Amino acid sequence: NDASTVFDLVILGGGSGGYAAALRASQLGLDVALIEKNKLGGTCLHNGCIPTKALLHAGEIADAAREAGEFGVRAAFDGIDMAGVHKYKDGVISGLYKGLQGLVASRKITYVEGEGRLSSPTSVDVNGRRYTGRHVVLATGSAPRSLPGLTIDGDRIISSDHALVLDRVPKSAIVLGGGVIGVEFASAWRSFGAEVTIVEGLPRLVPAEDENSSKLLERAFRKRGIAFSLGAFFQGAEYTDEGVRVTLANGRTFEAELLLVAIGRGPVSQGLGYEEAGVAMDRGFVLVDEYCRTNVPTVSAVGDLIPTLQLAHVGFAEGILVAERLAGLSPVPIDYDGVPRVTYCHPEVASVGVTEARAKELYGADQVVTLRYNLGGNGKSKILKTAGEIKLVRIRDGAVVGVHMVGDRLGEQVGEAQLIYNWEALPAEVAQLIHAHPTQNEALGEAHLALAGKPLHT
Ligand code: FAD
Repeated sequence: NDASTVFDLVILGGGSGGYAAALRASQLGLDVALIEKNKLGGTCLHNGCIPTKALLHAGEIADAAREAGEFGVRAAFDGIDMAGVHKYKDGVISGLYKGLQGLVASRKITYVEGEGRLSSPTSVDVNGRRYTGRHVVLATGSAPRSLPGLTIDGDRIISSDHALVLDRVPKSAIVLGGGVIGVEFASAWRSFGAEVTIVEGLPRLVPAEDENSSKLLERAFRKRGIAFSLGAFFQGAEYTDEGVRVTLANGRTFEAELLLVAIGRGPVSQGLGYEEAGVAMDRGFVLVDEYCRTNVPTVSAVGDLIPTLQLAHVGFAEGILVAERLAGLSPVPIDYDGVPRVTYCHPEVASVGVTEARAKELYGADQVVTLRYNLGGNGKSKILKTAGEIKLVRIRDGAVVGVHMVGDRLGEQVGEAQLIYNWEALPAEVAQLIHAHPTQNEALGEAHLALAGKPLHT
């Protein structure tokens, strides 16, 4: 295909949302052009999910070396070789990147490298050529946000993009923002040996999670020597001789070598022709209905660009949904509460469904029942020396509507939690399933046994 072809689908942005749409659409026989200005795979593969998890895993190994003596193993932690960490991390990325490039090539997708601009409701201009489609999918993703008066200069005031390629472990760091990205970097840097302080304006870490998860994470971070200031807003940052000083609205100040700004990510939608094509937006986010349709009939949008959960697997799901709809199938809208969420710090925070507070709003306080299962009763967690809890939220006499977990490796348990939520399982039905012993997965089973009125190890 070349630029004179009219494609079924022209996709702007080759990140999780865009490439998932491209792969599924081509599988369904649609003729697809995929336009990417940087690297296929986008934020998740190159600057997000994958590199952060590699850093966190390196941190886990550093912690294991430090703690080896507790298990009777003679090993000593002798510091971090950041070049080695990057080599490992970049190896993971490049393997996945090659695989993805091969996949896109094998599906006969027309891949166009270059910066695109929506030139009409059915076309995108790239490198002086026009790519026309029956339909266009906007998938230009998001970028780190800052605050008024706070310039991310990449030197001492950095974003996650800079933090991922930092050539050293900072002696000390202030992390502005106690959400997912902030706590993940705080956790990895602490494991690498840095002094870390998190500054969060809201009264708790991971404020989108159930309050119990925040409390448990705060306790665990305190134990690990990660400092945090909650409930006081950022006022300003200035350079000192040695690093950066941050001042909060309550007058408190913090100093460190680096300031990581992790206050969230904003949509990449400016200057790309979206307004001119009449696409409705709110604060830069492209507005869509439950089928990812914008107000312009030939334009859809997916991923971080739209105001849904900013997660790679949400981008994949939205991309697939759009491809299937355009191929004439009837995909079911996404239930965003049913999307699993994992924060990969040490300990991990994982959840699906609604928080206790939200359940009370939805169903009435007297209709909501909760149960907390402590990992202290779970054999495998004892073996791993990990503490934590699983909290279940259910409707009285009804289904489980929220599962909230804190503990190392519990992110891997979110799969069963997701089935429980999405299949509206009753606690007795889950309790009926035999969970393998000794696994951490067993803790989910035991929590449901307890909720069904027949606790075993509690
Ligand atoms: P992106 O991945 O941002 O892709 C958009 C693409 O569009 C980019 O490749 C960009 O180059 C391209 N583009 C933009 N403008 C143009 C243009 N004009 N022309 C051509 N191309 C253009 N999510 C998880 O689910 N799990 C995690 O563990 C996780 N960890 C994260 C850690 C960090 C540090 C960060 C920053 C994010 C993390 N995320 C995680 C979120 C995840 O990365 C995003 O939700 C996901 O990448 C969104 O996909 P997207 O396709 O919408 O956007």
